[in-house]
Amino acid sequence: MALNNNYPAEPFRIKSVETVKMISREVREEVIKKAGYNTFLLNSEDVYIDLLTDSGTNAMSDKQWAGMMVGDEAYAGSKNFYHLEATVQEIFGFKHLVPTHQGRGAENILSQIAIKPGQYVPGNMYFTTTRYHQERNGGIFCDIIRDEAHDAKLNVPFKGNIDLNKLENLIKEKGAENIAYVCLAITVNLAGGQPVSMQNMREVRELTKKHGIKVFYDATRCVENAYFIKEQEKGFENKTIQEIVTEQFSYADGCTMSGKKDGIVNIGGFLCMNDEELFLKAKEMVVVYEGMPSYGGMAGRDMEALAIGLRESCQFEYIEHRIKQVRYLGDRLREYGVPLVEPTGGHAVFLDAREFCPHLTQDQFPAQSLAADLYIESGVRSMERGIVSAGRDKTTGKNHAPKLETVRLTIPRRVYTYSHMDLVADSVYKLYKHKESIKGLKFVYEPKQLRFFTARFEHI
Ligand SMILES: *Cc1c(COP(=O)(O)O)cnc(C)c1O
Repeated sequence: MALNNNYPAEPFRIKSVETVKMISREVREEVIKKAGYNTFLLNSEDVYIDLLTDSGTNAMSDKQWAGMMVGDEAYAGSKNFYHLEATVQEIFGFKHLVPTHQGRGAENILSQIAIKPGQYVPGNMYFTTTRYHQERNGGIFCDIIRDEAHDAKLNVPFKGNIDLNKLENLIKEKGAENIAYVCLAITVNLAGGQPVSMQNMREVRELTKKHGIKVFYDATRCVENAYFIKEQEKGFENKTIQEIVTEQFSYADGCTMSGKKDGIVNIGGFLCMNDEELFLKAKEMVVVYEGMPSYGGMAGRDMEALAIGLRESCQFEYIEHRIKQVRYLGDRLREYGVPLVEPTGGHAVFLDAREFCPHLTQDQFPAQSLAADLYIESGVRSMERGIVSAGRDKTTGKNHAPKLETVRLTIPRRVYTYSHMDLVADSVYKLYKHKESIKGLKFVYEPKQLRFFTARFEHI
């Protein structure tokens, strides 16, 4: 193992363990075929190392588990809600909090109350559930991320930044009144977990303020984003992670948050805003879709664990190890010459499936097939983030064909060790050596919405 000071040891010790086992290659071939070559449809028990997602797969701390025991499960006015509210107000700096069952619950409510049919919703690349809710409410999604983000090989810092010219042109062309709000994701999941700089957030705020346009962040990985700012943006070296997180949100009118990522919990999320009128509307909606405004789809104990998790997330030792463990996997794969999205992002390493499978065209779903074959090779579960995830255009019915065709190896928080990362790197390399054996796929079942979750395929 190539561990040195660049890869800090785990800043925790292990108090409880879960046994994993690897089933034989023959059985893996059988179960992935049964799963329609979709790693989402595998049984977790058939997986050896699960890098499907970092969402809700986190290991909670002893303090969070202790918090679960002081859950106040009152239908209204739970004390855990007030704890969560105070924590979010302090760290995020927004006035109002509406808890939801997870991030998409918040996206659903925000899209319903802040988008009028026909309005544009510019964002720095799309996210699957976010765009779905925007479009479902009549919004027209518009990608305004900098061009570099669409080039897998370019290694530039803050690759997730918004291109201010693109935003300005859109405002000029469509008129400020036809823009619902700017949706700014920190970090940008589908670009490879790429961060956004503080300067970019400031500039987006200045431009939108001039035109009276609101800005809502997709705050899902806001702490990982803050780490990149501390590490790479001038003037932030000596700031604490929490100070940086708070400053980020000072340039926004509100946010949607999936607690399942940087909240280090297994379930939960929320919506924040400063505007009173919008808050009233959000509370009217939350009772329809989620629950009372003081729990919104979470149990009291879940709100307590999330409040504690948000604080732990802002500890420097935690987030430094988190980012560097992901980087370690990227570095190992790079040493092997495996093509990756550059640079390594905050939550995952993205294999560049176009380059990994040059013998397949994009409509043969190279990333989908690569993910399935990696499972067969090693029992490691990953996920497609390419043409299948991108879905079809609502009006033309054609496949969106994103430039980035990737397989995501997503690292759960505090779950796996560096040895597991070594095993994953070795497994990917083994497959890379006989990559020509990866076959193209075709749909046998294609769901209408968010098709990647439940689609089924067979070999061409
Ligand atoms: C996971 C995620 C969401 C949605 O959150 P859920 O808790 O899964 O509903 C939104 N945006 C981004 C960038 C995400 O990664």
